[in-house]
Amino acid sequence: MQAAASRSSGIDRRRRGHISGAKPHPASADDTGLLDALPIAAAIIEQAAKGSMQISAHNSRFFDTVQQSSSAARDWNAADCLKSGPIAEALTKFFDGSDTRGELDFKDGEGVSSHHFRLKLAPLPQKGNGPRCLLSVVDRTVEVQAERTLRAEMLRDSLTGLPNRLAFTEAVEKAGETVHRDLEHAVLVVDMLRFSRINESMGSLAGDELLITFARRLILALRAGDVLARTGGNEFGVLVSLRRGVEDALKAAQRIQDVMTTPFKISDLEIRVECAIGVALMHAGQDPEELFRNAQFAVKQAKIAGKPQVYEPKQASEARRRFSIETELRRALDKDQLRLFYQPLIDLKSGEVAGFEALARWTHEDRGEISPSEFIPVAEESGLILQLGRWAMDCAVQTLADWDKRCGEKLPLYVGVNLSAIQVARDNIAEMVEDSLRASGLAGDRLTLELTESSIVQDPARATRVFDALKALDATVAMDDFGTGYSSLAYLQRLPIDVLKIDKSFVSGMMVDPDAVAIVRAVLSLAEALGMSTTAEGIETVELATTLATLGCASGQGFYFAKPLEAEAALDYWKSRRH
Ligand code: C2E
Ligand code: MG
Ligand code: MG
Repeated sequence: MQAAASRSSGIDRRRRGHISGAKPHPASADDTGLLDALPIAAAIIEQAAKGSMQISAHNSRFFDTVQQSSSAARDWNAADCLKSGPIAEALTKFFDGSDTRGELDFKDGEGVSSHHFRLKLAPLPQKGNGPRCLLSVVDRTVEVQAERTLRAEMLRDSLTGLPNRLAFTEAVEKAGETVHRDLEHAVLVVDMLRFSRINESMGSLAGDELLITFARRLILALRAGDVLARTGGNEFGVLVSLRRGVEDALKAAQRIQDVMTTPFKISDLEIRVECAIGVALMHAGQDPEELFRNAQFAVKQAKIAGKPQVYEPKQASEARRRFSIETELRRALDKDQLRLFYQPLIDLKSGEVAGFEALARWTHEDRGEISPSEFIPVAEESGLILQLGRWAMDCAVQTLADWDKRCGEKLPLYVGVNLSAIQVARDNIAEMVEDSLRASGLAGDRLTLELTESSIVQDPARATRVFDALKALDATVAMDDFGTGYSSLAYLQRLPIDVLKIDKSFVSGMMVDPDAVAIVRAVLSLAEALGMSTTAEGIETVELATTLATLGCASGQGFYFAKPLEAEAALDYWKSRRH
């Protein structure tokens, strides 16, 4: 229960002296003795007729303390405290039973000169006409002030005088309580870069000076109502309010960076200080600690990116990336910016290059190399795989035809092209392959089509037609990533599959996991039983190459032999391994 009684008249409330007009009720000797024994100001209050109250006994401290609790005029009568003010209100409520808790903290005055009191009421057995209670008043001013000082110390960073991490969290929490809609506030975490190096080379005093100057500069970038705090050694937190969402937060980050551009003068030296800024936007009901951690996470990303970063939940940022990859992939395909690389497939018995697998490569102008395992699923989802697949097919057979032409002979090589399950389901693959072969002049037996088990599972009848049509073109059909899908043995037997490509997860596990060896052995004997050939993917060591050869695997590909190469390098590689 908190109440503030402020009847401030500006008169010194600490004055002591005669209390005019105080007419204590005649008290029994018992009562007075009892009260005098108490170490605090106390009085017995009795409720007389018509609800009026009177002091029936008090100890010597009572008037002094009660007078201090009131900023009344000089001629104030102590019994006046029963007429109005917090004591009178508490007593009235106590006697009429509307508040029987019997305890009340109140203060008199405002600011540094305010006084704090705790009032307690306890019922006493009735003696005369009305109910009675024991009223005690404790001056808690010193205690409250000490608590405040201690709290202020706990919330302040002693070096910069700024609020510390604890105070910052409290400020964020408070801001969160008043949030009416999302994105009204943001937390910026500003990390002074390379601070530890400056600290080490120039000494901790210079380091301290730099931190103080840095903090002062940060203040220059703030707007009214923003909260700045030192939240770690070289880390500062800024709570900003937003009117236009993320845009305002990024503007605040820009202002901070602007004030840091001028060099810092520390011990006669000019130092340039850079900072990384992470931004996290506050959502209604968000935990302040979580918000702060998000901003810290964004700082890490800002260090890598070299510019302020806004924290985004993983899912949102992944979805956004997929979306922008789709848009940019479409553009890249239209502008013919994808390239096809060729990874050698080695005959494990002879060590010669038997063929190449064509693998799509995309180097993005800003993002750099984007892996097929990222853009192929996006292409499949968006339907772009049809365009991509046709391009890969055209390009791969054309490359092999070019090699033939340049070498003046029909090279003993084939090219493997990947086909997605989406192409099988939606495109007219046989026609597309036929077109490519015709355009390049290459014979069908120079082409291997790598399909995955998923292309059979979705629509086995359609897959059967496609596989048959491809066989009719004389092409080889390989089952890619074998072992990772769900194809049934019945389909393996029924479909015209020539090669099983053992997935690299089994191959790379062979050296450490006996189960992987067992699986590879099983696939090899299954292939043999079904009259199929085998290719092992992901051969990274010579041990794997020899083990697989010993086990009877026909061919293999992997980084041990070569990574996917550009067309020119691939042809050179073939030449270099030719016996
Ligand atoms: P995939 O068809 O199974 O291709 C083999 C993948 O294994 C390639 O990854 C290749 O670079 C990688 N690889 C080969 N040897 C090793 C090795 O020793 N160690 C390791 N760790 N990896 C090895 P890449 O090029 O990243 O392609 C990933 C997947 O993307 C391909 O798997 C394929 O499913 C798909 N893909 C790539 N290009 C095309 C394309 O033109 N069309 C379609 N539909 N899919 C494609
Ligand atoms: Mg493949
Ligand atoms: Mg594969």
